[in-house]
Amino acid sequence: MILFKKAIALSHKLDKVRTEGKTVGFVPTMGALHKGHEALLRICKKECDVAVCSIFVNPMQFNNAADFTLYPNTIEQDMERLLASGCDLLFLPRKDEIYPEGYAAKKYDLGYLETILEGKYRPGHFQGVCQAVDRLLSVVNPQTLYLGQKDYQQCMIIKKLLALTGRENITVKIVPTEREESGLAMSSRNLRLTPEQRDKAVAIYKTLTFLKAHISKKSIADLLKEGMGFLKSSGFDVDYIAIADAGDLSAVKEIKNKKVVALIAATIGNIRLIDNMLLN
Ligand code: AMP
Repeated sequence: MILFKKAIALSHKLDKVRTEGKTVGFVPTMGALHKGHEALLRICKKECDVAVCSIFVNPMQFNNAADFTLYPNTIEQDMERLLASGCDLLFLPRKDEIYPEGYAAKKYDLGYLETILEGKYRPGHFQGVCQAVDRLLSVVNPQTLYLGQKDYQQCMIIKKLLALTGRENITVKIVPTEREESGLAMSSRNLRLTPEQRDKAVAIYKTLTFLKAHISKKSIADLLKEGMGFLKSSGFDVDYIAIADAGDLSAVKEIKNKKVVALIAATIGNIRLIDNMLLN
């Protein structure tokens, strides 16, 4: 694995790789890597000649200063995981490599996707995600981009970003969510959970599996009410629990023939967790 701190050096390396006819796959991350990230990298390495990973804790996507300050940093273990997962090139930029002095934030027209669910509860978050991903893509210019279903809405936002920036030629592969044995979705933020909170956090997965088991048996309104009650009684402050059209995330009142996804964002202690599950 080769480590790059400078964008220009990585771009030159990748230009060379491409002239040799090799394919480039890319897994952007914020570090504190876990098995979910590993799954993305393994698939990337299986499908592409050169697997590139970036670790950049993007300040522009944090709408909460404490969340940014407390974001875990485990770079030594991350390097080991990356080596074991087949990563070829690691991009570890400093902030000014992504946002050079005088950087003027762009404004992306993300439409209604930015006003619902995560967009509603984390104002500015997706604009921040797009600033970093846009810049990272201009450095790496991959054939294939690997994203986790864990961040369902973010996957849709990044697809929109590709369309907005004329990068429709990049293939997006969405990798299923890796979970702990308990069902808790792997997340870098889980590192901050106390053992008690970790036990309680399984309620998110249990709620999603409850919704999936009962989707054809109860009304959506009843399901959401019961799910909300269970999350609250498990100690969560709930930002949202939603059942939405899996294609565009619009709210659904009835299933009819739609493919639907359940999405939850909830906070325990001061740790905000998100998860989702396709229901049918
Ligand atoms: P992050 O480091 O949280 O920004 O995540 C980097 C990438 O890993 C994103 O595409 C995430 O959706 C993906 N990811 C995060 N958690 C998981 C998980 N449990 N399973 C699969 N992919 C994940």
